[in-house]
Amino acid sequence: MKAATLEELKRFFESLQSDFDLRVPVLLPGDTRGLGRLDEGPLALEGGPLPRKPTEVFFPQAELLFSACYDGPLQFETAPPKPLLVVGFTAQDLACLEFIDRFFQSGYRDDVYFRKRDTTLVVGLAGRCGEGGGFLPIAGGRCDLELVSDGQRFLPAPYSAAGRALIERLDCAEHRASLQTLQTESDNLPTEEAELLAQASRLLRAGRVPESFWNDIAARCIACTGCNLACPTCTCYGVQDWSYAGRVERSRLWDSCQLDGFMREASGHNPMGTEALRTRRRIHHKLAADVERWGQISCFLCGRCDRVCPTGIGILAVAGELVRRYA
Ligand code: SF4
Ligand code: SF4
Repeated sequence: MKAATLEELKRFFESLQSDFDLRVPVLLPGDTRGLGRLDEGPLALEGGPLPRKPTEVFFPQAELLFSACYDGPLQFETAPPKPLLVVGFTAQDLACLEFIDRFFQSGYRDDVYFRKRDTTLVVGLAGRCGEGGGFLPIAGGRCDLELVSDGQRFLPAPYSAAGRALIERLDCAEHRASLQTLQTESDNLPTEEAELLAQASRLLRAGRVPESFWNDIAARCIACTGCNLACPTCTCYGVQDWSYAGRVERSRLWDSCQLDGFMREASGHNPMGTEALRTRRRIHHKLAADVERWGQISCFLCGRCDRVCPTGIGILAVAGELVRRYA
C-alpha cells in the first residue's frame, strides 16, 4: 500500500493548496505546535495532540456573526471561498468533533458552524506520531482520511469518497507496510482512563458525591478558564455587540462556566453563584448531565484540561480523586 514520508506528505499538502484552504500542524514561534498554513512554519505532524483544540477551526474563540451600517441591511458572513482541509485531529479529537457536530445540529442547525464544517475535509493523525514517538490510537473512521504513522512513514486510511480522492493525489511509493499490525497495537492500548471516567460518571449519577467534595475541589480553582478554553467539547459562548464608525457588529465569543458571571442574570441572581457550584457543573455536565441528554460521556480524554490546569484539577484528576474517595 501507499506509505508517505514526511517530505512526500509536505509535497502532497502543497499540491492541495490550490483547491483547499489548508490547515496543518506547524511549528510556531516559541516552539509550540498549532494549526496553520504551510507558510506559517515547518510542518509538525509528530508530537501528539495539538495544544489548542483543533475544533476551533469550526467554532473559533471569537467569530463575527453579522454586521450592518446604521442605515443599511444586515450583512451575514458567508461560506469561505475555498473548502477547508484540516489535518491533525487525533482519535480523541475526532470523537469530540463528532459530539459537537451533534450538539450544533440539535434543536436548530447552527448555520454559522456548519457553513465551514459542511465543506471541510478532516484528516486524522494516528500511530507512532505521539509525543516522544508514543502511539496515538487509530480512529478507524469519523474523518475523511487518517494518516497512520509506523514510525517512519504515514500509511493513508481513507474513510470517505473525498478521502479516497485525496489519496489518488498522493504521490509516493508503495511499501510492504501493513495497517493491520498498527491496528492491533491500537486495539491493545490501555483503557484505564476511560474506565476511571466511567466509574466517576456512575458515582455522580448515583448521587454518591457529597457537596463537600466540590468545596474541596473548588478551593483549588483560580478561575483562569484554561480548562474550558482547551476543551474541544465545551461549546458555551456569549454574544457581544460592537458599534463603531457607523457600523454595528455582532460576534460570539467562548464563555467559561468557571467564571462568576457565567449564569448571572440581569436581576443579579446567580444560579451558579459559588465556585463550588461552578466546579461541580464543569465535571457533572460532562460525566452525568450529558449522559442523560446525549447518551454518552462528553469527555473523550483528549488530555488538554489536565495539561493546562495550573492547579491540577483537570477532569481526569478530579475523576481519580472522586473515585478514590467514594467508590
Ligand atoms: S480531557 Fe478535558 S479537555 Fe479533553 S475532552 Fe475531556 S474534559 Fe474536554
Ligand atoms: S484550568 Fe483549573 S484553575 Fe483554571 S478554571 Fe479550570 S479548573 Fe480552575
